[in-house]
Amino acid sequence: MIAIAIDGPAGAGKSFVARSVAAALGLRYIDTGAMYRAVALAAIEEGVDPDDAEQLGDLMSRSRIGFADVGVTLNGAPVEERIRERDVTDAAARVARHQVVRDALVAVQRAAAAEGDVVMEGRDIGTAVLPGAEVKVFLTASLDERVRRRARQLGLPQDAATACRLQDDIRERDEADSGRAISPLVQADDAVAIDTTAMSPDQVVERICEIAQGAVMRGEDGN
Ligand code: C5P
Repeated sequence: MIAIAIDGPAGAGKSFVARSVAAALGLRYIDTGAMYRAVALAAIEEGVDPDDAEQLGDLMSRSRIGFADVGVTLNGAPVEERIRERDVTDAAARVARHQVVRDALVAVQRAAAAEGDVVMEGRDIGTAVLPGAEVKVFLTASLDERVRRRARQLGLPQDAATACRLQDDIRERDEADSGRAISPLVQADDAVAIDTTAMSPDQVVERICEIAQGAVMRGEDGN
């Protein structure tokens, strides 16, 4: 069994890279950010305060977060597009601060990794979810580059006003994710850091595939 953990801040290119590595190596791709986003969407739809641990506990007990070919599902309904909107993005970083939410989602994530080989992307995969992962990668890129990538991903114009707004959003999310008490965004000691600022997505994918192949060969040698 092999698990590839890909962590890093918002806009570092994790999703494209993780999905491409999974496709190249024939592994299952798991987007854990989408799960936190689905919980945030459930909170918005049901009028639950994303800062209230007790209400979130109730919400978790009656919500089903799953994966299908169409992406993440909430209570059986596909929500992949809706969860990328700004209100959900904001609420996701807030619900992610709560132990009751993390415990429930981490259990689902570990169960998925126990079923077979995975590429799992998020913030705490190498540190908390799968600390024994054979391959751990921490992706970074400069803030300016992450802003440009996010604008492209959202189909927004590459102008100064958009850049300014996205920069504030990304910086705020970085601070929330790195500063929280439980499972903060931090590079695992044994992760390989890749600064992707000047790399093409394909180069990053290639680099991770090489690291993974090296890990598989070392595993076969019994080292
Ligand atoms: O990766 P993505 O931007 O979709 O993640 C949305 C939010 O979910 C992040 O800003 C973070 O607060 C939370 N998250 C997390 N742990 C993960 C994945 C995402 O706390 N493993």
